[in-house]
Amino acid sequence: MNYATLCDFVNGAEGISDIEGKAASGSGERAGKRASIKFVSCLCQRVYCFASMPKFFIKTYGCQMNERDSEQVAHSLLARGYEQVAHESEADVVLLNTCSVRDMADQKALGKMGMLGRLAKERPHVVFGFLGCMAQARSASLLKDLPHVDLVVGTQKFHRVADYVDQLVAKKAVRAAVAPYQKRALDDLRFSIVDVAEEAGSQSTIRDQQLRPRQATAFVSIMQGCNMHCTFCIVPQTRGAERSRSINEIVSEVRDLVSRGVKEVTLLGQIVNLYGRHEFPKIDNKSPFVQLLEAVHEVQGLERLRFTSPHPIGFRDDLIDAISRLPKLAEHVHLPLQSGSNKILKAMHRAYTSEKYVDLVRRIRRARHGIAITTDIIVGFPGETKGDYRQTRDLVEQIQFDNAFVFRYSPRGDTPAAGMPEQIDEHVKEQRNHDLLEVVNKSNRWILERLVGSQVEVLCEGPSKTNRARLTGRTRTNKIVVFPPSPSRLRGNTSVGQGLPRTGEFGDELVGDLVNVRIERANGFSLYGTPLLE
Ligand code: SF4
Repeated sequence: MNYATLCDFVNGAEGISDIEGKAASGSGERAGKRASIKFVSCLCQRVYCFASMPKFFIKTYGCQMNERDSEQVAHSLLARGYEQVAHESEADVVLLNTCSVRDMADQKALGKMGMLGRLAKERPHVVFGFLGCMAQARSASLLKDLPHVDLVVGTQKFHRVADYVDQLVAKKAVRAAVAPYQKRALDDLRFSIVDVAEEAGSQSTIRDQQLRPRQATAFVSIMQGCNMHCTFCIVPQTRGAERSRSINEIVSEVRDLVSRGVKEVTLLGQIVNLYGRHEFPKIDNKSPFVQLLEAVHEVQGLERLRFTSPHPIGFRDDLIDAISRLPKLAEHVHLPLQSGSNKILKAMHRAYTSEKYVDLVRRIRRARHGIAITTDIIVGFPGETKGDYRQTRDLVEQIQFDNAFVFRYSPRGDTPAAGMPEQIDEHVKEQRNHDLLEVVNKSNRWILERLVGSQVEVLCEGPSKTNRARLTGRTRTNKIVVFPPSPSRLRGNTSVGQGLPRTGEFGDELVGDLVNVRIERANGFSLYGTPLLE
């Protein structure tokens, strides 16, 4: 960790010495004190003034774990009185929460921060930060290539971000005031903060939820890290070793969410179904994960329970049994396959065979009628021959997944696979990716079309992203359904005849509700229908 002392220029700035004295300590209780920090002055008597509390912007790359981490950071800043904005151009603090799983994700975040350099010149007081996996993997090296970056915070330190932002906002405000003739000082690395250290107990710090009005679904982080060391994966480096929260902590977070209107929670972990295996004992032959599912299932008012992402080796009999007997568990399992070739699975260090995977799919489908199964597949792993790829393709055709994420293998530094011989040409990866997506899309279309004419339960999440006059939500099998606001509510609407009302006038009555929808058509990856109200 490296953070500098307060700017030498500070001279009697209101509240600043208080910030420095308590750096890295508390939380929202200091919001009142922060509200008093509206201006800072320096020896040259220039003054930089915040008319209101600073504004922040967070952009999230990558998975649901990252989304959840960003929510936690947003919560901690909001609790101190900062205001969240939707565009970086309005922000005093710009944070990129990064992903390192593939090179493209790295490059996107680096490119974005590079472009923000222009904003740094125009608005020298703005604080720029990298958070998360790429920050963890690249650490202080990020400051060298992008000198306007002030903050680099790794995956075990999200709970420290608000303290660091407090410090940097104060320092940069002072230094922006002297910027006209000391511009170079803004790039001074001594004023940057880098914290990528490990911290015991950090898995329990992702626990505060900032809910939107009528938010129906929420992610709950139950563990961090992974000890599996699949040869293609950088997660064990970026997220560290497996660490789990206690069942009590998780249940109390879920209870709080439900009391605030949430109806569906998704338990998150890198290998979620191996939750607690190092910390907690089996009881009655049930793994800690199954014990957790049972405890969360008991929460009154919770309607649906999901989990992601599991590892196939974590599906033992107790979990299959839980799928068959816990009705709140939604009928969807995301089950990463990665490859259909046993040779490639072995090279990936995935401890199952394609035959065992097929058998697992059969057991899951038998445990719960109509359950949807989705997957992740990597094509072009080192040494993948035409025959290996063919085995993957055949398996995908055989299983008929509801959907699949197909990735081209992307070498990540410091992973064993990056140094393996027989790396596959990008053009071949591209062809296999394209070909496999066609197979996946075929089964996806077929499964969606079979639902036309049926009635499904949808948890309404809010307006559709592509058409704000429509609502959207998910079925229990995780299919996206788009539907208009209720026809019965339209009858009392004076704007009938002038098109559908805008969401926010009528449709919001359904947001957060379980709605029965009759499916009328399937298109792409979505279903379209009409809500049936009694
Ligand atoms: S189990 Fe998942 S997170 Fe863990 S190393 Fe393998 S791919 Fe990465």
